[in-house]
Amino acid sequence: MTATGDVPPRVRFAPAPSGWLHVGGARTALYNWLWARGRGGAFVLRIEDTDAERATEESMHGMLEALRFLGLDWDEGPDRGGPYGPYRQSERTVLYRGVAAALLEAGLAYDAYETPEELEAQRREQQAKGLPPGYAGGHRNLTQEQREAFLAEGRRPVIRVRTPDEGTIGFHDAIRGPVEFDWKDIPDFVIQRADGSPTYYLAATTDDLAMGMTLIARGEDLLSATPRQLLLYELLLRDGLLDRVLAETGFPQRPEGASVPGFAHLPLLVGEDRKPLSKRHGSVAIDEFRRQGYLPEVLVNFLALCGWSYDGTREKFTPEELTQVFSFERVGRNPAYFDTDKLRAMNGDRIKELSDDELAERLQPYVAESEVVGGSLTPEQQRLLRGFAPLLRERIQTLAEALPLIEWAFRDEVVFDERAVAKHLKGRAGEVLEAAAAALAAVEPWTGEAIMAALDGVAEKLGVGRGKAFQPVRVAVTGGAVSPPLPETLALLDRDVVVSRVTAARARVASPA
Ligand code: GLU
Repeated sequence: MTATGDVPPRVRFAPAPSGWLHVGGARTALYNWLWARGRGGAFVLRIEDTDAERATEESMHGMLEALRFLGLDWDEGPDRGGPYGPYRQSERTVLYRGVAAALLEAGLAYDAYETPEELEAQRREQQAKGLPPGYAGGHRNLTQEQREAFLAEGRRPVIRVRTPDEGTIGFHDAIRGPVEFDWKDIPDFVIQRADGSPTYYLAATTDDLAMGMTLIARGEDLLSATPRQLLLYELLLRDGLLDRVLAETGFPQRPEGASVPGFAHLPLLVGEDRKPLSKRHGSVAIDEFRRQGYLPEVLVNFLALCGWSYDGTREKFTPEELTQVFSFERVGRNPAYFDTDKLRAMNGDRIKELSDDELAERLQPYVAESEVVGGSLTPEQQRLLRGFAPLLRERIQTLAEALPLIEWAFRDEVVFDERAVAKHLKGRAGEVLEAAAAALAAVEPWTGEAIMAALDGVAEKLGVGRGKAFQPVRVAVTGGAVSPPLPETLALLDRDVVVSRVTAARARVASPA
């Protein structure tokens, strides 16, 4: 029990494992997680893999990985079990079949034998007559003989639930307030396909009750599924139907006191053009954001703000703070703009807050995974990375942006960028390199400040601008034309390495035509 005497929430994230975890799904997971964590409740991960053609093992693992990356830990789930498992729907088919059979037996559902072609013809006829599409209820009242005749023809039935012919169904949505649907718009719907597999309605509804969910928070694209689910809850709870089937099929009984969950439908995520967010708008998969070097705590903060606001002003929150302040009441109904520029800016701001040690630690996997290193960093490479941290902080907005600036430092040999060579190793570059090699060999102590003074001395002696003195040295040492500030960068390297690279690069300077 919480302080207010409410039952602690039980909420779930229930992805279908096909493809990557996208930002929309991640936001749904996040809001559920925040709700559970802020109220001492349970966050359940349920994998909705009943569609064998689309669900893949790889996608499921990718989703678990993406949730872990974001720090959204679950209390019950496919990998860790829990009291109301199993948590993969593909392992619960016996239960769904049992529920469908019990609904049939109770006369709350019926076999329908139309073929897909017949249903399609029905749909076209409705269209031609200007009627709303949907099952017309043709097999609602078949006789036993009719059923047997269809079976003898080799037809296999689907199972449909009868919906009321008239009246309305209303519910209170935690975000949208009162919502009402007309039953006449909701035809009898399929709960079990002809191959015996459950539809989403049957599987999700059965599980939400069997797992004792208190609130279903999900995308508003599923709003229209809600009246069907509410009807099914009622039928499953009637005369203890579900409890009986749970016992008969050997599944755990529902949590004590569990009943029909509430609903919260989250607003759509849209891109700059106000159209539903899709690949056209850029990255949408959490894994892509991870690879680009977005920090999980920033993604969490940003996703929280996609639809929810605290007081309209404060925007910066740690995940822990979010668990304290988040509520569905402050989620808006309007589509939420997924503003990638804002995300980038937030990420850059967060990087600036990290200490040198933290930044180096966050950068480590990116450098280790880069093809230059391709494994783990040696202690020397770790020292180098730690040295770069303060030089990178102001220059990157995502972690991966550090790589082009520092990758060269993790190679044994200089790999020259020919464009940089052509641009900077020409004209008086030979003189510059010769003077720089001599000056650098004598720098004492080997610090950024002293190196800067030595290189400035070279520029002055030769009567060239700083750029003309620095760029040839940069290309000589790094192979390219971009790096963090040169003197501090050189100071991180071994003086001998620097001097020998500067000397060696003279051979590359194109002689004046
Ligand atoms: N498996 C459904 C989906 O991925 C979940 C729907 C729900 O949360 O009820 O869309």
